[in-house]
Amino acid sequence: MIDELIKGIRKDLYIGGEWREASDHGRFDVRDPATEEVIASVASATAEDATAAVTAAYDAGPEWAARAPIERADILRKSYDLMLARCDDYASIISREEGKTLAEARGEVNYAASFMRWFAEEAVRFSGRFGRAPAGGNNILVQHKPVGVSLLITPWNFPAAMATRKIAPALAAGCTTILKPASETPLTALMLASLYEEAGVPPGVVNVLPSRSSSVISNTIMSDDRTRKLSFTGSTEVGRILLTKAAEKIINCSMELGGNAPFIVLDDADLDVSSEAALVAKIRNAGESCIGANRFYVHSSIFNEFSKRLSAKMSQLKVGPGMDAGIDVGPLVNADTCDKVESLVKQAVELGATVLTGGRRPDGPGHFYEPTVMVDIPTEAEILHTEIFGPVATIVPFEDDDQAVEMANNTIFGLAAYVCGKDIGRALSVADRIDAGVMGINRGFISDTSAPFGGFKQSGIGREGSQDGLHEFLETKYVAVDW
Ligand code: NAP
Repeated sequence: MIDELIKGIRKDLYIGGEWREASDHGRFDVRDPATEEVIASVASATAEDATAAVTAAYDAGPEWAARAPIERADILRKSYDLMLARCDDYASIISREEGKTLAEARGEVNYAASFMRWFAEEAVRFSGRFGRAPAGGNNILVQHKPVGVSLLITPWNFPAAMATRKIAPALAAGCTTILKPASETPLTALMLASLYEEAGVPPGVVNVLPSRSSSVISNTIMSDDRTRKLSFTGSTEVGRILLTKAAEKIINCSMELGGNAPFIVLDDADLDVSSEAALVAKIRNAGESCIGANRFYVHSSIFNEFSKRLSAKMSQLKVGPGMDAGIDVGPLVNADTCDKVESLVKQAVELGATVLTGGRRPDGPGHFYEPTVMVDIPTEAEILHTEIFGPVATIVPFEDDDQAVEMANNTIFGLAAYVCGKDIGRALSVADRIDAGVMGINRGFISDTSAPFGGFKQSGIGREGSQDGLHEFLETKYVAVDW
């Protein structure tokens, strides 16, 4: 069944409403992280293909921008319906190429589709302003215009949702797009190309360019004067490179970058609530989430009990292929990611850390890592300072709220953070002092289509979702009017 599904996906480039091979006929393999088997071969775009995509997007721009907003909304709404109607197919492909469990993949499909519905509604709601200049000399008319050809670069960890969180607002705003998906997960992106085609998105409005040569593609597209926008989700390291490139043509940038989320458990926290929230915040997508809890700071008075409870929960999780029934934690996406997690744990243990549960990499095939909880971690251990991106929880004690806040903010990142405590006023005042764009209080699940998502500090620039996500794809035009 899954093999038939994969066979049915178009695996070439989608440019100007046509499916075509790469100009040099190059292709690359897609592997199942649970088995390491090759499951598909996908066209790998070249610089020539990238320029063709810019031309297609640029040529399609004026007609798409001129469409009545309600027509764009109707197409987005149809995309939403189509995606949900095939929820299980999308979920199976996401699970197979990315590794997450089927239940989580279904959750991702619903989340991904919800951006189409949300921005279909926003497409007809945004308006400008009108006023009189204070000095009375003229009238002030403010309009919002589509920013133009938009390059969208997405990561592998949420291959559907990270794409629709960009495509939907771009289309709602009247922009045309070129999606460059992560090489680990191009199949989901190619399914989306077919979905938009079926929903009636005109040729050239959505172009999809899988490629093994990501920097060639981004450099070519961003060197082109016709490109006006970059919306990137991925690591801070790559974000930095892209921002430097964007500076050459002063390209408008939205950046959703890496995180290093602290999870603070105050001394009055409910241990059932906080340990459950901790599990959710840690184990989503096997820990491969930008908002995944990375550093647990727990008040010393409840440190042992909290550590025991979280370890008990983590040790009960069943690890295996995400497509199998009853699995809680799928494989990590590839060998490099698994190697990194393994070496971070190893280094911390060598420095004196104690492993309460897990700490092993099961024999292959597949890039699995056991859900792990560690304590007694020396401050110099790398694992406390980097994005782990795996199912490993590090727990560190603190003595008072000020110390917890200081440790939480001691990072270049500022994407997500969590606080647990029964006194909501106190939890909110701790949250208020943490430099993060997205916060959870007494809960581990925080993503919401209607809420602004994005980071402080080196975790990003701009916001996705909510009304803010649409404005990332709009330029503001002021017209001084006399009549
Ligand atoms: P990544 O290595 O930065 O890759 C992200 C995307 O950039 C992929 O499409 C990749 O293509 C492309 N890319 C890589 N190097 C490039 C270069 N030199 N020039 C142009 N494009 C390049 O990140 P990842 O490993 O896929 O994703 C994990 C990271 O994403 C984590 O740091 C996570 O925190 C972050 N993330 C952030 C958010 C958020 O909303 N803030 C959401 C999800 C993930 P290839 O795959 O072809 O290399």
